[in-house]
Amino acid sequence: MHELDRLVLLANLAEEHCELNHGPKTSHLKLPAVDYLVQPFGYSMSDIEEVSVREVVVPVCIDCAGALQGNDWTLLYCFECNSSQWISRRFARLRYRHNVLWLRGCPECSGEFGGLYFSDVKALVDAPLFLTRLQDIAAA
Ligand SMILES: [Zn+2]
Ligand SMILES: [Zn+2]
Repeated sequence: MHELDRLVLLANLAEEHCELNHGPKTSHLKLPAVDYLVQPFGYSMSDIEEVSVREVVVPVCIDCAGALQGNDWTLLYCFECNSSQWISRRFARLRYRHNVLWLRGCPECSGEFGGLYFSDVKALVDAPLFLTRLQDIAAA
């Protein structure tokens, strides 16, 4: 992400609301966003160089940001239609390990499941990326 894009997003953060699913009958809730979840989708030129084709940037509230960093919840996020769903790992039949599973297509938008998406970088950084911390990652 370009530094300018990052600064523009951060400047607008105060006006953003959480775009994640908070359960049935909660769409009227306008929860202030505290950060952006960022997922670059691209392909690798080499081990060190990745070309970003597009970036999904999702405003998240403080509760969702916390859940994304904990061990209790896994977020399913469809980047075709931006719908999302939380899975409680304790009650899930499958053992979920990731904080976010990015879906290409879901029943909400297509009725066709296009598969899970993992970028090569994401496989190495096994944790959600938050915009406010992107600079730290780049500097590390
Ligand atoms: Zn939220
Ligand atoms: Zn979808």
